[in-house]
Amino acid sequence: MSSYFKRYNQLKTQLNTYSYEYYTLEKPTVSDAVYDGLFKELEQLEEDHPDLVSLDSPTQRVGNELIEGFKKVRHQQRMLSLNDIFDKEGIETWINRVNKLIQGNSNKLFADIKMDGLACALIYQNGHLVQAVTRGDSFVGEDVTTNIRTIRNIPLRLRETPGFESFLSGRTEVRGEVIILKQEFDQLNEDRRKQGLVEFANPRNLAAGTVRQLDPRLVSKRPLTFRAYDILRDDSREVPTNKFAYETITALGLSRNKEAGTFDNLSEVIQFVDYIGSIRDALPFNIDGCVIKVNDRQQFTDLGIAGKSPRGAVAYKYAAEEATTTIKDIVISIGRTGAATPVAVFDPVQVAGTTVQHASLHNADEIQRLDVRRGDTVIIFKAGDIIPQVQRVLKELRPEKTKSINYEEELKRQYPELDFIRPEGEAVYRVKGLTGPVILKRALRHYASKSALDIDTLGEKNVEALVDSALVKDIADIYKITKSQLLDLERFAEISSQKLISAISNAKEPQLERFIFGLGIRHVGQQTAIDLAENFGSIEKLSHTTIDNLKNIEGVGEVVAESIVAWFADEDNLSLLQKFDKLGVKPQFTSKAEGPLYGKSFVITGSLESMSRDVAAEKSEN
Ligand code: NAD
Repeated sequence: MSSYFKRYNQLKTQLNTYSYEYYTLEKPTVSDAVYDGLFKELEQLEEDHPDLVSLDSPTQRVGNELIEGFKKVRHQQRMLSLNDIFDKEGIETWINRVNKLIQGNSNKLFADIKMDGLACALIYQNGHLVQAVTRGDSFVGEDVTTNIRTIRNIPLRLRETPGFESFLSGRTEVRGEVIILKQEFDQLNEDRRKQGLVEFANPRNLAAGTVRQLDPRLVSKRPLTFRAYDILRDDSREVPTNKFAYETITALGLSRNKEAGTFDNLSEVIQFVDYIGSIRDALPFNIDGCVIKVNDRQQFTDLGIAGKSPRGAVAYKYAAEEATTTIKDIVISIGRTGAATPVAVFDPVQVAGTTVQHASLHNADEIQRLDVRRGDTVIIFKAGDIIPQVQRVLKELRPEKTKSINYEEELKRQYPELDFIRPEGEAVYRVKGLTGPVILKRALRHYASKSALDIDTLGEKNVEALVDSALVKDIADIYKITKSQLLDLERFAEISSQKLISAISNAKEPQLERFIFGLGIRHVGQQTAIDLAENFGSIEKLSHTTIDNLKNIEGVGEVVAESIVAWFADEDNLSLLQKFDKLGVKPQFTSKAEGPLYGKSFVITGSLESMSRDVAAEKSEN
C-alpha cells in the first residue's frame, strides 16, 4: 500500500472519529484548529489523488449522525457546510473565482459574523412556527420543535410589518444559529461550581447538546438564543438578495447580527473581517470566523455546489493558536555554553498568524514525555509572541514502524566527534570538557580567521584577553568594544587598541559567504558557505530554509542540512544574528553565478610563486 494511501485512510478514520465526538457525543477531544488542520491535509490528498474520494470522506459529509428519539425530517433545501479559508489571499482567490464564473456580472458581496453554535431551520406556516429542524447530515435533520419553542427570542408567530406581509402566508423557512451567550454560559458554570457539579466545556457544545436533549424541561433551564442568517420561500425570487433577506429577518421579528452587510470589493471585505477580528473578544457570543457570500441569490444558486459546500459562499477563519504538522526531523543544536538542545523540525505551518517550522524540545526528558518521533503528527501551540511549542503527539496518526528517540544515540550520530555529559541534577546534556569561555574563544578565533572575516589583529592572544576580561560575551560583542575599554586592559596601548578597533570596524560589511563560514555552524566549511550564499543570497533567507531545500544543494547531505537547520532553530543564535544586525554588521552578497566563467572548474596544481593556493583559489572564485 502506498504511503499516501495509508495516510489518507488514517486521516479519514481519525477525522470521522473527531466528528462523531463533536457532533454526536458533543464532547470534542481536539480543538477546531486541530480538526481543520487535518481536514486541510485530507483535502489536499484528495486534490492530488482524486480517485481517493469516497462517500464516507469528511470532505463529502456534513454534520452528524442523527440521534434516536427525534423524528427525522427531510430538508426542502439542503443545509450545507462551508469551505474554510484561513488567510486574506484565500478571500481574494475565492472572489476572483466567483467573478470568473459569473462572467463580469456586477457582483456585490455580503458578509456576516460566523457564530459558533448549532444550525437550525425554523418552519413557519402562515406566520406560525410549526417545526424546527437541526441541520443533521444536510439532507435530513432532527425535529427539535418542542425544544426550540422554549427559546425566548424565537417568535412563535412572525411579526407583521408593512411591506413584508407576504412572508406571513404560505411557508417561510428561517435558518440561523442557536447559541449561548458567553455571559450566560459563565453564570451557568458559576452556579454549577457552587453546587459542586461538573462545569460545561464550552458554549457551542452546550447549545448543541441542549437543543438535541430529549427532556424539554431541562432545555427551558438553559439560556439558549437564536440568531438568523437566512430566509427561504418556495419561490426564491421573493428573496432576491442576502441584504433583503436580512431586512426581512428584522421585519419578521427575529434577531440577527447588526454588523452584517454588503461590500463592493475585496478591500471592503477585508476591512470587515479585520473589524470583526478586532471586536471579537467583546462580542457577546463565541464566533469562529466570518461568512462571505455573493449578495445576489440567483447568482448564488447558479454557482452551484461542490462536495458539501456551495461555491457562492466561504467561511473565513481567524488565526488559531494551534495547528497540526508532521515532524520531519529531530536535530540537536549546541549552544554557546555547550548545552545540547533538541529541536523538532516540521513542515512549515501557520500558528497564531506566523509561519513556524521548528520548536525547541528543551531536553531528553521532554522528548520522552511527549514520546515524539520522526514522522509523527503533532499539535503545535503558539499564543501571540510566545515561542512555539510541541503540545502533544496525535498517536493515532503515527506511521507504522517509527522508532522512539534514544537521545544519547542521537547525540552520537549527530556529533560523532564530541563527548557529552549530563551533569548531576540537570536536564540538559553538555559537551564534555568544554566550558563557555573555551567555546567562545574558539568561536571568536574562527570568526576572525583568514577564511572568515579575516581580522588579523584579532589573534589568539587578543581573543584570550577579550574573553578573560569579560569584555566579550559573544562574538557580536567585538563590535561594541571601545578604545578606552581596551586601554584598561594590560595588553593594549594606544596604537594597538586603535589598530584593533579599526580592524573590527572594517569588518562590518563582510562578504556573505565569509560571514556564514564565520558563524561556525558545524559541518559548514568554506565551500558549503559559498554554496549557501549563492543559493540563498541572504542570512534571512537561509535562516528560513528547510532540510529538503538544503539537501537539493550539491554537496549538502542529511547531516549538514540538519546541522544548519538546528543552528538557525536555536534562539541564542537568532538573537546573536539580531545583535549583529543592530551593531551594523551587514553581510554583502554579490552573486558569482553569472558571466562567461560561471560553471567552469579551475584546477590549481603544483606550488605557485606569487601566492598561496588558497589565495589563488579565492582570486579564481572572485
Ligand atoms: P461550517 O463551518 O461548514 O459552516 C456552516 C455553518 O456555519 C452553518 O451550518 C451555520 O450553522 C454556521 N453559521 C454561523 N453563522 C453563520 C452565518 N452568519 N451565515 C451562515 N452560516 C453561519 O459548519 P460545519 O460543517 O459544522 O463545519 C465544521 C466545523 O466544525 C469546523 O469549524 C470544524 O472545526 C468543527 N468541527 C470540529 C471538530 C472537533 O473535533 N473539534 C469535529 C468536527 C467539526
